[in-house]
Amino acid sequence: MMDHIFRTASAILTEGHICDHCMGRLFAKLSTGLTNDQRGAAVKLALAMEADHTRRETSNNSLLQDLAPSSIHARKSLGQDVPQGRCWVCNGLFEQLDHWADQVVDALAGYEFDTFLIGTRPSGLLLENEEILWAGSGTQWAEPLKTEMNREVGRRVEEMLGKRADLNRPHITALLDIAKDNVELEIRSLYIFGRYRKLIRGIPQTRWPCRECRGKGCPRCNYTGRMYPVSVDELIGPEVIKAAGAKDTVFHGAGREDIDALMLGDGRPFIVEAVQPLKRHIDLTRLQHRINRYAAGKVEVLGLKYVEHPAVEAIKEAKADKVYRLRLTFSAKISEESLISALDIIVRAPIMQTTPTRVVHRRADLVRERKVHYTELEELSPDGLSATIVVGCQGGLYVKELVSGDEGRTKPNLAENLDVEAKVAELDVIKIEGIII
Ligand SMILES: [Zn+2]
Ligand SMILES: [Zn+2]
Repeated sequence: MMDHIFRTASAILTEGHICDHCMGRLFAKLSTGLTNDQRGAAVKLALAMEADHTRRETSNNSLLQDLAPSSIHARKSLGQDVPQGRCWVCNGLFEQLDHWADQVVDALAGYEFDTFLIGTRPSGLLLENEEILWAGSGTQWAEPLKTEMNREVGRRVEEMLGKRADLNRPHITALLDIAKDNVELEIRSLYIFGRYRKLIRGIPQTRWPCRECRGKGCPRCNYTGRMYPVSVDELIGPEVIKAAGAKDTVFHGAGREDIDALMLGDGRPFIVEAVQPLKRHIDLTRLQHRINRYAAGKVEVLGLKYVEHPAVEAIKEAKADKVYRLRLTFSAKISEESLISALDIIVRAPIMQTTPTRVVHRRADLVRERKVHYTELEELSPDGLSATIVVGCQGGLYVKELVSGDEGRTKPNLAENLDVEAKVAELDVIKIEGIII
């Protein structure tokens, strides 16, 4: 083993001067408890001693005199054996660790974070040198330049800032671009979960560009570029941007209600993602008050709390049961008994629903089977031409079509059971069940 190390190390040294970090990296996996530069210095020291020993033996003097205290010292005593100057592998990069740590600390100024990670993008030249080095020495115990750089700069930044490097999910990743002598930051988004109530009709969940001009502005949209003046997203986002010092927000809803439907009860789960936030420790109670003041009378949020990124997929994929309150109108007078028995039929039967005409342009044209869990008649008008009902059903059931039948595309349906035309005049979501984050 010693022989192998000596042979490898000597071979590398014939290429030119190599720094302690790069020498140590070659044997990184051979010894624990040492940093690579300590390991490299030790290898060089041992090599110098070996060379000295050989020389003395040849000149009939086998006594080892003054042990060299460091590899540099040893190198001096060896003279011609160890080349001097800048490391031919890293081109002096590991002499600039403090410089890189300073650059990272400067770049991070102004950002609130608990954990960070250093990444390194080596220049083409360094990658080539690394290949030459490994070709000569083998890679069995070696560690790449990137790994050493990330760890050494990371350790310095940890000390300077009192923050923790985290390999898994750091708040900020600082990428060292060696060729550009520049640090790039990747800032992890901040995710805030909550539930929203929509108190007025005619508000889409997210911004909806004008269908005619696709957002450029035209007579149809009164040059606003949009179909609706405001959205739930836009009523929540601005205060989040302000509080987090974020660049932007992205809104993730657990499904969405129709534009003309209210969202009542304890609201619909959502996650608002603050993009490139300066702050991560926001007072969420205060944020909630601010949003509710800003969106007053239109949208209200409750139960704000921090979540991690996987929660976004979780709420988007959740197939939550829904409870709706519907105000229905009929084309002819109906009796209470006929309405009750018609409601009873849709509870007992599986609902076969072909994608409704109004959404078929954006969803696959399929037949889906859904269930209605219960129905309840709240009120039938004295003239028998309108009623208010409550429907508890599986997520993904289109209730407007459950009532109208959508020209036979939803079966069974209420209109058919009543043998009149039936329509939903008003729709409110009063409960979304079972999404627990
Ligand atoms: Zn080096
Ligand atoms: Zn337009």
